[in-house]
Parts: sequence; C-alpha cells; structure tokens
Amino acid sequence: MTAEIISVGTELLLGNILNTNAQYLSRELAALGITVRRQSTIGDNHGRLADFVNEAKQRCDLLVFTGGLGPTADDLTKETVAACFGDTLTFDPDEWQKIVDFFTRTGRETTPNNRKQAMVPVHGHKVVNHHGTAPGAWFEQDGHCAVLMPGVPHEMKAMWEESVRPLLLARQSCALHSLTLRVLGGESNLEYRVRPLLENPNPTAAIYCKTGECEIRITARAQNDAEAQTMCRAYAKKFYDLLGDAVYDEDVAGLEETVVHTLQANGLTIATAESCTGGMIAQRLTSVSGASEVFGYGFVTYWEQAKAKLVGVDPAVIAQYNVVSAPVAAQMALGAAKAAGADIAVSVTGLAGPGGGDAVRPVGTVYLGAARGDKVYVKKLFVSRPDRALIRARAAQTALELALR
Ligand code: ATP
Ligand code: MG
Repeated sequence: MTAEIISVGTELLLGNILNTNAQYLSRELAALGITVRRQSTIGDNHGRLADFVNEAKQRCDLLVFTGGLGPTADDLTKETVAACFGDTLTFDPDEWQKIVDFFTRTGRETTPNNRKQAMVPVHGHKVVNHHGTAPGAWFEQDGHCAVLMPGVPHEMKAMWEESVRPLLLARQSCALHSLTLRVLGGESNLEYRVRPLLENPNPTAAIYCKTGECEIRITARAQNDAEAQTMCRAYAKKFYDLLGDAVYDEDVAGLEETVVHTLQANGLTIATAESCTGGMIAQRLTSVSGASEVFGYGFVTYWEQAKAKLVGVDPAVIAQYNVVSAPVAAQMALGAAKAAGADIAVSVTGLAGPGGGDAVRPVGTVYLGAARGDKVYVKKLFVSRPDRALIRARAAQTALELALR
C-alpha cells in the first residue's frame, strides 16, 4: 500500500507552527509497512485543496489528512475531500449531542457553525474522536481511501492509535509487533555498524538519535501476534550480536529508568553532587516512578563554597587543580555518598558556557565521578559544540551511564 500525508492549515505554510503531525504519521505508516511517497502541506483553500486531492488520488492508495476539521469557515477539509471521493455529508445527531454536552460541561453555548462538526460521510464512515469535538472521517472510492484526522496533535495521535491504525492493520490483515532498543553512543558510528540491518523490508528497523544515545525501533509484520513477536526478538538478537553492551535496555523511556530499576534490583541507593547540571540528574532519576526506593537526596553545589560545605571538597584541591578537574569530581562523588549515606554517588563539574573557559579547559569540558564505598572512578567528557543546553544534557546523560557501571 502507498500513502501520502496531507497536512492542511495556512498556519503551517506561514511557518507559525512546526508540522509534527507529518513526522509522527510518517513513522507510524512506515511501521505498518505502508510506503509513504509524499508529504504535502496545503493552505485552507477549497479550490487548491480539491485540485491537489484529485491528483494525489491518482498517485497512491491512501491519503492521510490532518487539520481543518474544526467549526470555522476555513475548516473545509471534510467537505472538499467528500466531493473528491464522490461522497456527501449528513448530519449525525449522536455527534451533535456530544458537542452540545461538551459545551454545556464547559459552560458555553453552541453556535450554528458548530453543527458543521457533526457532519459525517454518507457512504464512508466517521472516525470517533474521544478527545475532542471533531469526529474524523473515512472515504473510499475505487480502491482508494482517505482518512481525515484533527490537526490538534494529541487528538490526532489518540485517533490514530485507537481507530485508524487498527483499521489499516485489519485492511492489511496482519499483526504488528514493535520493540525499541536503547543504545549508548552517537548516531553516525552506530548507523555505520548496523547499516545492513536497516534495509530489511520485514522486520523493519530504524534509528532515532537522542542526546548521547540512540533508539532502534524494530517492527515486524506477521499473520498473528505471536509470530510477529518471535520475528522481532530474532531480529533484535542480530543487533545485540553487533552492538553488545552498547544496548543498555529495551522499551524504556530513558537511561534514568534503567538506572533506577538496576539499583532497585541490586538493593542499592544513589546520591548526586551536581555543579553545571544544576539538578538535572536528580530530576531525571525522580521522574521514574519508584525512585524513592533508591534516591534519598542530591546536592546542587554550584559555588565552590557549596562544594566544600555540602560534600566536603577540600578548597586546597580546588586551588591546586581547578574546580573543573578530576580530583574535584572524585571528591564530590565520595563526599556526596558519605553525606547522604548512599551506596553509590555520581558527580559532575564542568564548563557549560557559553562564556568562560580557556585553552586548557575550553567550554564543554566536564569531569564526572562515580563513587562506591571508598572507590571512585572519574571520567572526562568534552562536548565540542559550545551549546550550554547540549553540554548540560550530555553531562547528565554521562553521569547516568556512570551510575550503571
Ligand atoms: P480545530 O477544531 O482546533 O480547528 P482542526 O482539526 O481544524 O482543529 P487545525 O485548525 O488545522 O485543526 O489545527 C488546530 C491546531 O492544531 C493548530 O492551531 C496547531 O496548533 C495544531 N496543528 C494543526 N496541524 C498541525 C500539524 N500538522 N502539526 C502540528 N500541529 C498542528
Ligand atoms: Mg481549525
């Protein structure tokens, strides 16, 4: 099956908003084994939209629309596509009641133009919207179909997950299973190593790069769930064989989740001493439910005096080696573990810029420590792009990596 994604909305063309819907749908359609041939953005204009739909219908099997389902005069996707697919719209009393109920609940009154949202296809069918007032629509003609979803991203995603994806799966009469491998390291190196595995038609595998790590999403299509799952697992093994320990987990939201679960499993607690990350490591750890079992408290020691006072860094060591140095990172980690009574501790001291730094210690220089008992390991990180947010994010990510050691 081939598809085109059509995003409707003049504000997209004006550059007022970023087209995140198209990105999401491209990924999702590819995972279903549907080939996306084109992404297009069209303004809210009946004539231009109609011309475009008529052409696109000749090019592919499935047209996926988002936007223009609202009540205002410029929301005209449904009428336009209906006409192009030889369909008409009819008033749906159930949808209208939902809209009236919604307005009553929110203390407002409906206006005549709200009735527009209760119009549904006569030959095609509506697609229920559980998260907003505008139902979606499905049209079909001569083996071509069009599916219309709202522009609001969370409504669109919910409708896709709950209704559209299952409809497309049923149409292809197949089951789908996905799993996501989390891999430490940058994209270019990773892509190079696994490239042959990324060109397979089924299971498919795709890499998505995040800060300091990548996600490999594997999706298998098969006759039934069990078969798809087995295929996914077997394909994942090929990645494990190539990447070894770089794969740190599967189907987790991020490294912090793996750290918390690993500490839980080993009955260990952790503390943090953060300088340039200002609490980002603690924030990430505490974003995981159950973090209180492993994390009691951390220290944000931004000033030199704070490093001395809270985690016992020796001012003479700072004077001798500089505050951004391996000995200071080591003392911060050892001191944090001791002060918090934790089994392990991680620490960060670095130059996030954009100002400061010199030839010896340029912006982007970060030292990290990981202490366990009286042993401490120190790592130097250098982020060559003088980007404050990036340096801080990479530092926090690296500290979490150290917590897994
Ligand atoms: P509404 O009932 O709000 O009018 P709608 O289905 O008519 O919904 P639009 O009016 O096109 O959708 O868009 C509503 C809002 O959703 C936009 O203001 C924008 O913030 C967001 N949006 C629309 N299309 C996209 C898109 N392709 N990517 C990201 N956000 C989008
Ligand atoms: Mg609208």
